Amino acid sequence: MVERACVFGLLLIASAVSGCTPSRDPAAEDAPAPAAVTATRLAAAETEPGQWMSHGRTYGEQRFSPLDRIDAQSVGRLGLAWYADLDSRRGQEATPIVVDGVLYVSTAWSRVKAYDAATGKPLWAYDPEVPGEWAVNACCDVVNRGVAVWNGKVFVGSFDGRLIALDAATGRELWDVNTIDRSKPYTITGAPRVVKGKVLIGNGGAEFGVRGYLSAYDAETGQLAWRFYTVPGNPADGFESPALKMAASTWSGEWWKLGGGGTVWDSMAYDPELDLLYVGVGNGSPWNHFLRSQGKGDNLFLASIVALDPDDGSYVWHYQTSPGETWDHTATQHIIVADLDFEGGTRRVVMQAPKNGFFYVLDAKTGQLVSAEKFTETSWATHVDTKTGRPAETPGARFYSTRRPFVSLQNPNGAHTWHPMSFSPRTGLVYLPVHMANYTFAHDDAFRPSPLTTNLGIQRSNAPADPAARAAAMQKTLATVGGRLIAWDPVRQREVWRVPREGAANGGVLSTAGGLVFQGTGTGRVEALEATTGKELWAAETQTGVIAAPMSYSVGGTQYVAIVVGTGGSWAMSGARANAKGNSLPNISRLLVYALDGKAALPPPPPLPERRLTPPPAVAAAAVVARGEAEYRNYCGRCHGPDGAVNFGILPDLRYSAALASKEAWAAVVLGGAMKANGMASFAEVLDADEAEAVRAYVIAQAHAGLQAPVSSSR
Ligand code: CA
Repeated sequence: MVERACVFGLLLIASAVSGCTPSRDPAAEDAPAPAAVTATRLAAAETEPGQWMSHGRTYGEQRFSPLDRIDAQSVGRLGLAWYADLDSRRGQEATPIVVDGVLYVSTAWSRVKAYDAATGKPLWAYDPEVPGEWAVNACCDVVNRGVAVWNGKVFVGSFDGRLIALDAATGRELWDVNTIDRSKPYTITGAPRVVKGKVLIGNGGAEFGVRGYLSAYDAETGQLAWRFYTVPGNPADGFESPALKMAASTWSGEWWKLGGGGTVWDSMAYDPELDLLYVGVGNGSPWNHFLRSQGKGDNLFLASIVALDPDDGSYVWHYQTSPGETWDHTATQHIIVADLDFEGGTRRVVMQAPKNGFFYVLDAKTGQLVSAEKFTETSWATHVDTKTGRPAETPGARFYSTRRPFVSLQNPNGAHTWHPMSFSPRTGLVYLPVHMANYTFAHDDAFRPSPLTTNLGIQRSNAPADPAARAAAMQKTLATVGGRLIAWDPVRQREVWRVPREGAANGGVLSTAGGLVFQGTGTGRVEALEATTGKELWAAETQTGVIAAPMSYSVGGTQYVAIVVGTGGSWAMSGARANAKGNSLPNISRLLVYALDGKAALPPPPPLPERRLTPPPAVAAAAVVARGEAEYRNYCGRCHGPDGAVNFGILPDLRYSAALASKEAWAAVVLGGAMKANGMASFAEVLDADEAEAVRAYVIAQAHAGLQAPVSSSR
């Protein structure tokens, strides 16, 4: 409280108070309460260039900062102004919010922190105390992408499905509402948005078997105002809206028993002029269209951008990017509203570059497709027919029809996923982080939904059994993994420049009026590039991989660039080998804030722990090991790595586990839930004692195999 009195007391006094650093523009006449964000301020965000009041800075989520003090000439003087260590070693995906000199940021496990944005002085911290075992519901790490602020409050979605309002001055909890059916594997990783006094929040969980929706809560009271379901439920129960009745005609079979999917786990944007809310909808649950809907129908509103009336959540229009979605093609990727200058005149559009590899430009008012072109190499479709708005799929893409594996040029992280892009109205370009990684989709004949794991309807592994052949196949896939940052002209639908990245998992993007583009990389750098050419003008070492997006703000005339660093998230969770390239740094979770002539320095990175594999003697016959491998693939591999190991310090490499030493110690963790506070749930619901012991035998065998491996993967 003393710190706060210092910060806000200043406004009433002058700028120079001994022992207090101004945290707000001293020229500010009046003294707004903390986080005094209103609809008027948000709609006029252009007039307050130093603020970053919502997730994408403005309602249209352009992630463009009008600040220009840091530009091509001055950026060489950019240095660390301050930094803050974050209390987590899990993935960091948040974009900070800055309002009137206070920076609010969320970290892994949905924790929230507030800092003096000029000095880095901590103001308060909040922990929603997410039950550790809820982590079993994470497809993609226990991440959080940010908070929302509004009328003196800070809102965060907790990983276990709650929406929480905090007092922006103190971090004190004001209300906490449950947004989910707690018997189902829902999560929240996305940032809330606030539109017209309502806090909007969706969920994750479509890899596990849930039904997606978006909820709106009254910002003052936490009362549910409306809910829009993205997929129809059981028709016998009646439909929540006419839109869902229409949507149900595009489904077959008994999809509701499997959830259907369509979670709204990340993107939203709002256009105050048209008064439309745009929502990105996720993939089907299960992924496999045949198992989900008998291979029939478009399955609305999966993989769609849906426009809603923000007052009551009623449907206005939709555009579906991948009809009959079956490749984990979400359309939850960043949505940008902008005015684009076409030859025939200016047009207000909605832009998205979803997982499926096409860049979509839609009319913001009607949802009509303006254009769609590939922004990277894809194999599932050749083009999109602008007349019908539908993709021309390639033969063989529907692996469940052919019963033959289909090699997609995108793995489930897509050609682009949540890592935000940025639109600069100055250059007219969208700056977009692109992923490359092949993936083989194969129909799972033996699909049976199970708790405590993903339910995709895709074979978990069709890798050859022979170890040498398997290693060769893995190397072949690994060779396809890569990334790039591209500048995309959305009017002409073509790439203007590209910067290749060493690995796939890189950060989101910021563009500024200083003619710069900022991005962090999986290889541990944050860079400033010339917006028109992509030429590198400045870079700093971050000591850890970066996946979050930078943002910029100003306090007292000084421009800052802030970025949360710390690797993790979907790439780190989706397989050690696929991530090894370009993202092999440990997680050192931090908030880094740069300014011109910044003189702060990071401490030297901690030495990597010296680790040696010392497995107990092999405990079982080959048949038991094989059984253990099958269960490992069913339940363990999606977090701990496909071959018994993850290399990034995100989750334990089980080959080093002390619990391997005895059957009892192993069972205490795997069945008894002894490590549940750390995120390791009990698997007693799905594994019996023999199966758990078989998994131990498999991991021990993997540890022995690792002793003979030419390249150590210990870290
Ligand atoms: Ca997904």
